[in-house]
Amino acid sequence: MAETYDVIVIGLGGMGSAAAYHLARRGKRVLGLERFTPAHDRGSSHGSSRIIRQAYHENPGYVPLVLRSYELWEQLERDTQAQLLTIAGGLYLGTEDSDVVQGSLRSAREHNLAHELLDQKEIRRRFPVLHPRAEDCAVYETQAGFLRPEAAVAAHLGLATRGLAMQGGAALHFEEPVSNWQITNGGAVRVTTAKGTYEAGHLVIAPGAWAESLLKLSLPLHVRRHVMAWFDPPEGIADFSPDCFPIYIWRTGADTVFYGFPATDCEHCGVKAAMHSGGDICTAETIERKYQARDIAEIREQLAAYIPALNGRLLHAATCMYTMTPDEHFIVSRHPDYAQVSVACGFSGHGFKFAPVIGEVLADLAIEGRTKWPIDFLSAERFAG
Ligand SMILES: Cc1cc2nc3c(=O)[nH]c(=O)nc-3n(C[C@H](O)[C@H](O)[C@H](O)COP(=O)(O)OP(=O)(O)OC[C@H]3O[C@@H](n4cnc5c(N)ncnc54)[C@H](O)[C@@H]3O)c2cc1C
Repeated sequence: MAETYDVIVIGLGGMGSAAAYHLARRGKRVLGLERFTPAHDRGSSHGSSRIIRQAYHENPGYVPLVLRSYELWEQLERDTQAQLLTIAGGLYLGTEDSDVVQGSLRSAREHNLAHELLDQKEIRRRFPVLHPRAEDCAVYETQAGFLRPEAAVAAHLGLATRGLAMQGGAALHFEEPVSNWQITNGGAVRVTTAKGTYEAGHLVIAPGAWAESLLKLSLPLHVRRHVMAWFDPPEGIADFSPDCFPIYIWRTGADTVFYGFPATDCEHCGVKAAMHSGGDICTAETIERKYQARDIAEIREQLAAYIPALNGRLLHAATCMYTMTPDEHFIVSRHPDYAQVSVACGFSGHGFKFAPVIGEVLADLAIEGRTKWPIDFLSAERFAG
């Protein structure tokens, strides 16, 4: 006999942990199945910091979702007493006609978000460690900052099992990869692992870079390998404190975007910077997990030109995966072929900040079959055929 639940969640990374929590909180009996350990470093949700921002240059459609995420992150901090979010301000830099600048302005204006447009001189005056080109400008907003991804995943997992939930709650199984799932004759979902068989009325699949093997859906996804690196600023770390140094995203060339953070809590971690553009195509199975000299050289080239005060000793580096869609927008929707299944994947290197609202949306889809949040632009069906 299969163990039965209301909902099964496959994958307990950024999105799956949030879905398990929101389902449990709403009284559902949830089973979460995860290939690795809690808040592990082999997927896409590790590396001590993730940017969160509001003037979303990728598409104004994300703004209502990110504003809801801020509320949910703050609520999660209150419920767990964990520090998950630090507000430090955000700078989106490039030439005036660049996607990063124009897209940020568009979202800020459409959604009435407080922001300023800074020219090169003003950027230098406020943030002296940055070396913009004469033609650079920046959109600045005060409400951007960074999240702590491992702590955030752990917070969702902890609350899902402890349950603010009165009747519901989640059983979470780690190191138990799902090998297959199917729909039974009775219309339930049956999920199989090496350790057992489980059934539920609904299945949520949040597979990260393993999407292809789990979705039973042909989607044009590809996985990219990205390296995060932590540097020791030669003149000291004080200039990079979140009190005076923001998160930034910088379009420096037609094919180059780099980004970074202020110094985070941990004193010996240094200051993180990384490339958002590029990244070798790989799979979750074949990725080269060790960083290479050329990975660091690529980041250093940007630092030497734009933030020389950060171009010091390398303290640490780690690889991570982006799961890309062709338009770089997420896939969050009902499975086109199975009404009992919802999917969340293809986060294209910018999903983490949305994890709690995606969790809420996935709970809505599983429980009610629809959501009030505007996710039509994220439908799996846009790639059908
Ligand atoms: C270097 C880097 C920098 C980033 N920077 C930012 C940023 O600044 N801001 C931002 O918002 N986003 C950022 N992102 C993107 C963001 O981190 C991801 O979009 C998000 O973490 C994806 O979450 P996920 O749940 O889809 O994937 P994951 O967290 O990887 O979770 C998927 C889970 O599914 C599990 N799984 C897979 N197959 C199975 C199976 N068969 N059975 C059971 N479990 C399975 C995996 O083990 C994994 O735990 C960045 C990503 C990277 C890599």
